[in-house]
Amino acid sequence: MKSRKLKYISIVILLVFSLILAAIIFYEKNQEMKIIFLDVGQGDAILIEQGSNQILIDGGPSEQILLEKLGKYVPFWDRKIELVIATHPDQDHIQGLMGALKNYQVENLMETTIRSESQLYQKYEELIQNRSISKIMPDSETTVRIGGAEMSILSPLGLVPDSIVKDTNSFSIVSRLVFGDSSFLFTGDLPEKEELKLVKREVDVRSNVLKVAHHGSKYSSSDDFLKKVHPREAIISSGKNNRFGHPSMEAMERLKSNNIEILRTDEMGDIVYACKNLEKRCQLVAN
Ligand SMILES: [Zn+2]
Repeated sequence: MKSRKLKYISIVILLVFSLILAAIIFYEKNQEMKIIFLDVGQGDAILIEQGSNQILIDGGPSEQILLEKLGKYVPFWDRKIELVIATHPDQDHIQGLMGALKNYQVENLMETTIRSESQLYQKYEELIQNRSISKIMPDSETTVRIGGAEMSILSPLGLVPDSIVKDTNSFSIVSRLVFGDSSFLFTGDLPEKEELKLVKREVDVRSNVLKVAHHGSKYSSSDDFLKKVHPREAIISSGKNNRFGHPSMEAMERLKSNNIEILRTDEMGDIVYACKNLEKRCQLVAN
């Protein structure tokens, strides 16, 4: 009698487990990919997520703000971020990443070999070492796949110094994500002279959505570059009343004269694109 009861209980437990597993697999496969330009104040943080897979490009200027944002969008049971891309080691890009590195299991970290002399950077690198996070050095051959999309690395081009550099912006990791008919260009804080190198070398930068370089600084978003990228929409990630005066009038004017719609995190909060698996297209949605 007892063994029959035990058998019955075992079958029920097994059934429940199978159902949970099936639900997780179904959830994973059917989740649409989202690309979220997080409103982190004066800085950049972009989350690309499909099911329980995440790519985080930069972390903004605050650990607390980034963790709040990740808490909002990453499922509570998912404590792993598959890939973090640190475009360059400036405070408004890596300070928030410290929060992600401390509170999530970061599987891979992509960054270049350039170093910053800041104390924050020393702490950040120590944390990466202590956590034994595997590093990926980007080059033109690097591709990353997520939820049916493919991301390629466009810059830095050529040799990157393995030393402390003053002009960290010039070595920003630039990446392009393509999902069916939709494409996104992530530019870090790339200055004009580097934008023009991409144009000159005829790198394919065409994208529907451009993450405007350097928070809308006047020293980025040159006219030639905008014409080559030819985006429909441009995202500016900057903080309200920031001390740099970002975005600049000059960059805004160049965007407008190229008939590009401007979307700003300081005005709109998080800017979310959802990608439909059937249509293979990403669309702006209300967050
Ligand atoms: Zn920046």
